[in-house]
Amino acid sequence: MPTDLKSLSEFDLIRRYFAERTPRHAAVHLGIGDDCALLAVPSDRQLVVTADTLVQGVHFLPGVDAGDLAYKALAVNLSDLAAMGAEACAFTLALTLPSADPAWLEAFTAGLFALAGQFGVELCGGDTTRGPVLVVTIQAMGLVPQGQALTRTGAKAGDGIYLTGCLGDAGLGLQVAKGEWRRTAVDTLPRFNRPLPRLPEGIALRGLASACIDVSDGLAADLSHVLQAGGVGATLDWLRLPFSTSMREYIAATGDWRLPLSCGDDYELCFTAPGNPASIIDQVTQASGCPCTLLGFIEAEPGLRLLRHGTVEVLGALGYRHF
Ligand code: ADP
Ligand code: MG
Repeated sequence: MPTDLKSLSEFDLIRRYFAERTPRHAAVHLGIGDDCALLAVPSDRQLVVTADTLVQGVHFLPGVDAGDLAYKALAVNLSDLAAMGAEACAFTLALTLPSADPAWLEAFTAGLFALAGQFGVELCGGDTTRGPVLVVTIQAMGLVPQGQALTRTGAKAGDGIYLTGCLGDAGLGLQVAKGEWRRTAVDTLPRFNRPLPRLPEGIALRGLASACIDVSDGLAADLSHVLQAGGVGATLDWLRLPFSTSMREYIAATGDWRLPLSCGDDYELCFTAPGNPASIIDQVTQASGCPCTLLGFIEAEPGLRLLRHGTVEVLGALGYRHF
């Protein structure tokens, strides 16, 4: 606990900024305030658990907006739950602060609960500690009907490959933020700062998708995980890729067609499914309201390929690597 917050008392701080502001979820029987939280898992459900850490200097720059940071820390976790077809229930927050001021905490919790409130996810516990750099760790929990979780394994030759939303806008937003690209039809920076986790879409994919992943490290890298898990390959069709007007403008001006395939942070769902593509797209769109596009098909031959201007190119793993 940073000393400047001691005047408030640790318990008052947690109560004021976190306990009193969180939305509630019926699965949480005991939330913030005790040694642990208690969650109920109905006998016909499985508990789905994930965690993600954002470290200052690695995942974000020191001057980042506190609200955006909190929103994104929760969004990336909820996106993992979405990719498994889970309903999000609750999360814990471990906060390491070099120092803390009430204005920063105010902005942080505003961003955090803007998203938590949208999906009714309860902050049920956590830890607050002082440390050399700002670190935000969120662990999120969801529920899925027994045996219905979507996983990366299961894509079969002949399955369609689909993506929710548009491809690469978050990466384009980052280019704008870094001053490397200026012109853009629509501002794509919010797509980078505040990605929308595709939770209703993931739920709509139960019983429909043969495999699913959320696009955090770029489509080429993340789809490659699905291909490897299934022991299959794929060819994407360039003409089918769903680009926003801003992305089309960028590609036309720079010729950089790799960006949308390699940049991360979109947090769209990429899934494979057997059956009629028009019917698959219809079911997802009807259930979630989100546009969904066929990108190509799963093939028996391993590897990821792109059909572009009449030629097939092999796409390497183009994504971001931490190590
Ligand atoms: P303990 O000493 O048992 O770990 P703490 O004093 O760390 O308890 O926390 C008191 C209560 O506040 C616990 O219920 C804990 O889960 C909760 N808590 C602490 N920090 C946070 C936080 N950043 N967000 C949400 N809950 C928190
Ligand atoms: Mg503690």
